[in-house]
Amino acid sequence: MAEVIVIGGGIAGLGTALALSRSGHRVTVLEKDSTPLPDSALEAFERWDRRGAPQVRHSHAFLARFRNLLRDRAPDVLDALMRSGAYDLRITEMLPPTIDDRSAKPGDEDLVLLGCRRLTLEWVLHKIVVESPGVVWHDGVQVLGLEAVAGSPPRVTGVRARRSGGPVETLRADVVVDASGRRSALSKWLDQIGAKPLQEESEDCGIFYSSRFYRLLPRAEEPPRDGPIGADLGYMKFAVFSGDSRIFSITLAASPEDTPMRRVLRPGPFEAAANAIPAIRTWLEPDRSEPVTGVYGMAGLRNRRRVFMRDGIPLALGVHAIGDAAIHTNPLYGRGCSLAFVHAYLLADAFREHGDDSEGLALELERGTRREIEPWYRSAVTQDRDACEVAAQQRRGEDPFAMNTTSGGEAVDPARFMRSVLRDGLLPALRTDAVVMRAFLRNFNLLERPDSLLTNGDVMRRVLAAWRERDRRAPAEPLGPERAEMVRVLEQAA
Ligand SMILES: Cc1cc2nc3c(=O)[nH]c(=O)nc-3n(C[C@H](O)[C@H](O)[C@H](O)COP(=O)(O)OP(=O)(O)OC[C@H]3O[C@@H](n4cnc5c(N)ncnc54)[C@H](O)[C@@H]3O)c2cc1C
Repeated sequence: MAEVIVIGGGIAGLGTALALSRSGHRVTVLEKDSTPLPDSALEAFERWDRRGAPQVRHSHAFLARFRNLLRDRAPDVLDALMRSGAYDLRITEMLPPTIDDRSAKPGDEDLVLLGCRRLTLEWVLHKIVVESPGVVWHDGVQVLGLEAVAGSPPRVTGVRARRSGGPVETLRADVVVDASGRRSALSKWLDQIGAKPLQEESEDCGIFYSSRFYRLLPRAEEPPRDGPIGADLGYMKFAVFSGDSRIFSITLAASPEDTPMRRVLRPGPFEAAANAIPAIRTWLEPDRSEPVTGVYGMAGLRNRRRVFMRDGIPLALGVHAIGDAAIHTNPLYGRGCSLAFVHAYLLADAFREHGDDSEGLALELERGTRREIEPWYRSAVTQDRDACEVAAQQRRGEDPFAMNTTSGGEAVDPARFMRSVLRDGLLPALRTDAVVMRAFLRNFNLLERPDSLLTNGDVMRRVLAAWRERDRRAPAEPLGPERAEMVRVLEQAA
């Protein structure tokens, strides 16, 4: 049994504390926010001050990978979430009416997302973890650095931390887990104990985020899911997120360089933009819902990967980073909490195998991170680069989908060709083909590898068949206005 200190009580810290305490370790969680746990999940949404994790008041999707992990390894947490108003979003309820074969298929039991607000999830998890045997939780304690025995590599023996206004204290542990999120200071702390510098890759996601929450009116229901509730208009990405307790949210995201789009950070223009998008408009009908918050904004979003290993040797022993502190991606893909939990359980499993061997534990965790999490980071970086290019071309008034063709009519620009296959092949196939839809949703929900669509011959044949029909098909209803029209909508609303 090990003494473990977890820095940060967000989703990764909660997942780590849950997984390690249930494996028999003693876990102390140090969380710098000093706001007591509200009495209920509903109060958490109203007034829980979580300034250490400001994204808690943004839309969150909880993917099937996360739900399945809870189902298989912490079913009591899933039950508690359900009792707090979370609900299952099953694939059979997400099939558009244009798909004829609506029968359930083997594997559908795994394709279930969780409809839940981030604050509800965090409140339920927090309550369970705080009450778990083997867990000690300290709110209002900020970690300032690591304690270590010098060496090559240094061995971490604890942390230096301070309760607000109090003296700096040293807390000892066998293992320290950094779960302090995307702004983790671990790089600096490692430097201070003489570790070699960590390797970091980081790239702008190319978007800012704006989210607003709404309540369904008494007697009103969610509109039927007969089309996409999230899509990419190029210059703007949008999505509707199901939450618990009859609350849902809408997120609009656009490039920070697209000045007119930044108007959506204010309620009037946000409403106007949302109402200009058909798939969202139905959710906002006056007899269906009302806003219950202002518009929350967030910028500075990056894809980041930190590697705590150099030439196959850990930079320090006895310290590990989990969740956003190690790796985070564009929030639009909705993967952060799922991957943070996967990461926490990778650590717990590595601990079971290598608990007495600090180096073996670090190497096993790194192998798991490369296998399970890093591919999603690579995929996000590639996708974001293309999305940034599409948005920039639209701002310049160019058509990012127009294919340069040779005199023989063959596509010569692979990026434009892939965009065209996605827009004119994948999207129409998703409307009519249950096989493509299932494959897409399995990928989206992290149940397959990131390249699973491209490497599935049957799926690609179906997508390309739909793509070849593109000129013979009646044009689909546009998912939203052209950029110039949206700029006008926003100007008027401002
Ligand atoms: C706008 C936005 C929208 C998102 N949408 C989704 C989504 O739809 N689905 C999804 O799965 N993910 C989403 N994410 C990602 C998700 O929120 C994160 O991946 C997830 O919160 C990671 O958890 P974490 O515990 O690593 O970090 P956090 O949840 O950020 O928690 C870090 C914790 O550490 C504490 N802390 C920091 N420093 C210290 C210190 N020195 N001492 C003590 N405590 C400290 C902080 O107070 C905080 O509580 C979104 C992120 C953003 C920014």
